[in-house]
Amino acid sequence: MNFETLGLAQPLLAALADSGYTTPTPVQLQAIPPAMQGQDLKVASATGSGKTAAFVLPALQQLLAARAERRPGPADAAGAAPAQRRAGSGPRVLVLAPTRELAQQVAKAASSYGRHVKGLKIATIVGGVPYGAQLKALRGPLDILIATPGRMLDHFGAGKLSLDNVGLFVLDEADRMLDMGFIDDIRHVAAQLPAQRQTMMFSATFAGAAGRLASEMLKGDARTIATTSHTDTHVNIEQRLHWADNSSHKHAMLEQLLTEPTMEQALIFTSTQRDADWLADQLAQIGHAVAALHGGMPQGRRNRVLTGLRSRQLRVLVATDVAARGIDVPGISHVINYGMPMKAEDYVHRIGRTGRAGRSGLAITLAERRDIGLIKRIQQFTTQQIPVATVVGLEPKMAAPVLNPERRPMGAGGFRSGPPNGSFRNGPAPGGFRNGPPHGGFRAGPPQGGFRPPAQGGFRPGPQGHGAADGGHHGHPGERSFGHDGPRSHDSRPRPAGRNAGGFRPGPRQR
Ligand code: AMP
Repeated sequence: MNFETLGLAQPLLAALADSGYTTPTPVQLQAIPPAMQGQDLKVASATGSGKTAAFVLPALQQLLAARAERRPGPADAAGAAPAQRRAGSGPRVLVLAPTRELAQQVAKAASSYGRHVKGLKIATIVGGVPYGAQLKALRGPLDILIATPGRMLDHFGAGKLSLDNVGLFVLDEADRMLDMGFIDDIRHVAAQLPAQRQTMMFSATFAGAAGRLASEMLKGDARTIATTSHTDTHVNIEQRLHWADNSSHKHAMLEQLLTEPTMEQALIFTSTQRDADWLADQLAQIGHAVAALHGGMPQGRRNRVLTGLRSRQLRVLVATDVAARGIDVPGISHVINYGMPMKAEDYVHRIGRTGRAGRSGLAITLAERRDIGLIKRIQQFTTQQIPVATVVGLEPKMAAPVLNPERRPMGAGGFRSGPPNGSFRNGPAPGGFRNGPPHGGFRAGPPQGGFRPPAQGGFRPGPQGHGAADGGHHGHPGERSFGHDGPRSHDSRPRPAGRNAGGFRPGPRQR
């Protein structure tokens, strides 16, 4: 099956050919045909599955069809500009995304897939950037609007945006939007849209609140498509769990991991913004090309950091869950969980930042005893077990905790370093399974010996031991966050700072 057989118009096929994509991914294969026919869709699909094209291509196809209706004739098949699109009349397609980064990534994909659609107008409306350019974009003719809910509602409330023309409404990463507290915003937006619209909802899971929202938002005959689930094995992502005796041990392991020759680029997750700043500082001090990325940073700086990561000026990025959502950088060879995610689902999103674009990736979790509960929840959520490994020279002194020994290892579905016989052991055992270190310097399986101090550098205290509330924050003086991504009340007045607002805030567990 190729893209031609899906019935996509020539300008879209040409753009796909430019991108080098020949075969639709499973989600594209299943979603594009009903989406092109105008059906409502409820799509369970993870990031990295090609889901963006699954809604962007049908959206572009519909724009082309709408142009053809307005100006009959063969010219539209070649993507001719619309004859009567009125300035300021509002977009035909509205995409809501939970984070600025994801919105910008969707916009990039839309520009790329729509590069042969003449006169295509796409606007991105996110918080953290000045209003001026956005107001200008909203005044002109507009085909596709991609937005985070807060800032979009600011413009709507101020009468600067019409939603009357929206024929297709896409909710991307709906589960994350709900996690971020956007439920009222989403309902408010939906209430402003024409009832006759088509709605597509994408979510990693439709369990719980996302499923309830789907029944509110979608028509009764909506098509359900599920191409991935959180229990799927990530065949190209090798996962490892390293038990740390304490935060110093964890930090020493991190430093050693970052010196591995196989590491192209690493994305390190922390639990809080404060920890992200602190850790980036620590790593910068020992010579890493590193930056932090979190929701407390102004958008301009966040953009610069992502550009630095893509251009490989940065080798290490220290990020929180929210900020890292949607990052699609093929060079990320390692994801390292330095701070635990709040929820098991976040673990799945985190590890999906590596192993992109057909490459393989390594996802390493550095856990302390206090993290046992969460590790168990992650294993229950994925129904898989993360194999325990040790860093050579930094083996833990304490025996690895026993976690659900009856569970199946992730090796069952293609995981590369599972025990050859399929039986997995957590605790120390003489001659326990040991894989040749594919990434060098690691040993999968139980600890083989006593704890040895790190080869170089010595241990550094973890963030817990870091004194000041600002914990080494290396913010730029004069920078401030506009922070308009957070949920809000529905009026057009300036609103109080959302959860990502207000610049750097050192509150505990702020993500
Ligand atoms: P997404 O899940 O939308 O974030 O897409 C993940 C990555 O897959 C992005 O880098 C896309 O550009 C890429 N991609 C999307 N569709 C295809 C395809 N049909 N073949 C190969 N790569 C694709």
